[in-house]
Amino acid sequence: MIEITSANIEKAITKARQTKPLVKIIEFRLYSVTNKTTGATYEVKFSKINNRKFAQCDCKSGQQGKFLCYHVGAAIGVHIVLAEQMHTATA
Ligand SMILES: [Zn+2]
Repeated sequence: MIEITSANIEKAITKARQTKPLVKIIEFRLYSVTNKTTGATYEVKFSKINNRKFAQCDCKSGQQGKFLCYHVGAAIGVHIVLAEQMHTATA
């Protein structure tokens, strides 16, 4: 699990914009991200602990836990929209 910071998520989002992977919602905070070129699919999970945000991806670099991969960068775009919609729905 890697803590999300504004610096590392920005890098991950930039990479995701270049790769343009396909993001599917499995459930709130759980997404599957597919590389359209290779067909490789990984699961990205977001969690919130003590108001700190964490991301987990089951790809190689995600498991090493050193930096946020582009799967996380792609999934967070969908996650933010979904979280806002849920917030609006409950408000
Ligand atoms: Zn990944």
